Amino acid sequence: MSLIVNPSTLAVIAELRDTPLALVDDVVERAQRAQRTWARLPQRSRIDGLRRIAELVRANSEELARIETSNVGKPIGASRAEVSMVADTFDYYAGAIDKFFGQTIPVDGGMDFTVHEPIGVVAVIAPWNFPLAIAAWNVAAAIACGNSVIVKPAEITPLSICKFGELISNADLPDGLFQVVLGKGPIVGTALTEHPGIGKISFTGSTETGQTIMRSAAGTMKRVTLELGGKSAAVIFEDADLERVAVESTGAVFGNSGQDCCARSRILVERGAYDEFVKLFTSATGSMVVGDPLDAATTMGPLVSGNHLDKVESFLDIELDVVAPTEAPTGPGHWMSPHIVLNPPRDHRVVREEIFGPIVTIIPFDDEADAITLANDTIFGLSGSVWTRDVGRAIRVSRGLETGSISVNSSTSVRLQAPFGGFKQSGMGRELGMTALDGYTELKNIFISTDG
Ligand code: NAD
Repeated sequence: MSLIVNPSTLAVIAELRDTPLALVDDVVERAQRAQRTWARLPQRSRIDGLRRIAELVRANSEELARIETSNVGKPIGASRAEVSMVADTFDYYAGAIDKFFGQTIPVDGGMDFTVHEPIGVVAVIAPWNFPLAIAAWNVAAAIACGNSVIVKPAEITPLSICKFGELISNADLPDGLFQVVLGKGPIVGTALTEHPGIGKISFTGSTETGQTIMRSAAGTMKRVTLELGGKSAAVIFEDADLERVAVESTGAVFGNSGQDCCARSRILVERGAYDEFVKLFTSATGSMVVGDPLDAATTMGPLVSGNHLDKVESFLDIELDVVAPTEAPTGPGHWMSPHIVLNPPRDHRVVREEIFGPIVTIIPFDDEADAITLANDTIFGLSGSVWTRDVGRAIRVSRGLETGSISVNSSTSVRLQAPFGGFKQSGMGRELGMTALDGYTELKNIFISTDG
């Protein structure tokens, strides 16, 4: 039995039973049967199925958002935006079903063409920071391609996915097309990654777990998409609109209490603008409101768990120059205020490791080449920002950064219509956009001889 806790009050909000390992075979067989039925349905029926899911999510969006906020601790405005994106994701992939097709290839002696076939059963192993939104990216693309899905949410944040499963049981989909299994990663997660009846694992989580999953999936040659950790940089040049950058950068690093794989946790500032930027950013951080995530005025909630809070606080080395310009509540809850680390040594762990909490480092750089070297000096490569009014430099630096997404004069990373994923140890494969569909299908080549 797992107790699910609200991180802002420490109240127990649910007690859930883990899925017994003995049931995993039944879950997979049910998913295989559902997949065969689903893939044979007319295209129109599958499009309608995804649209019904979107409608059910919209009709229950406030309840889903409140569940997400009470389980993860994120501000209610952020949960509402994520739930809205969940509905949009199902609509987007409903619209993609009849626009994703193969090629006709000129060859001698006949005709050659390609078709996309479903992989079969896809297991989605989800993280705790965006429990429903990230699972939905995977689920929507997978079922749009004719697969069935088994989702394993993170142990501590299963509630929104469980509610989503309950809601879509009314969407008139084949029984078993979407199932949830609960339990610890190394136990029930491993049962999925090793199961011969599953064809693909879509994993989002830490780089370390991603490595374990890749090894385990290799035994049955499963396809894997891995969305992993990050240590993204915002590169700010002197000619940028520093006031705007300072305000937007607070959200880019302290949004979701810094528990965001795309957090711009390294802010690199051209030396001539460093002092001014630090002043503006410290003042903008001082205006953040840390508190009850159900209050619409709150901009940052608690961290997700006590263990995670301890891990994040361990980065605050006494030797570092640290500023914390706003207060966090002191009552029950896993509270921590935003912390700014000024010009730390470049080899300190606060600069090198993913913190996944409300701590940012601000580091000066000398010129464009130094900025690129510094930004790329990491094992990760997920996201990043470049702030400048010089368009040539924006393009040069964007091309020079080894990351899957870059925003110029923006702190955003994710757009439903565009591919999202990491370079280097931030992952493998891409989610979102039409590109994701390649990852949920096998490409089949068919040749038809025209010889009499
Ligand atoms: P985690 O790796 O601890 O857990 C993720 C999921 O994997 C959970 O469901 C967990 O139960 C499961 N799991 C753990 N061990 C497993 C195993 N041996 N076999 C199978 N499943 C296993 O990650 P987390 O702490 O939930 O999430 C935080 C991490 O996720 C951060 O590193 C963050 O950067 C990353 N993340 C990446 C993205 C992205 O899109 N790149 C998005 C969100 C989060």
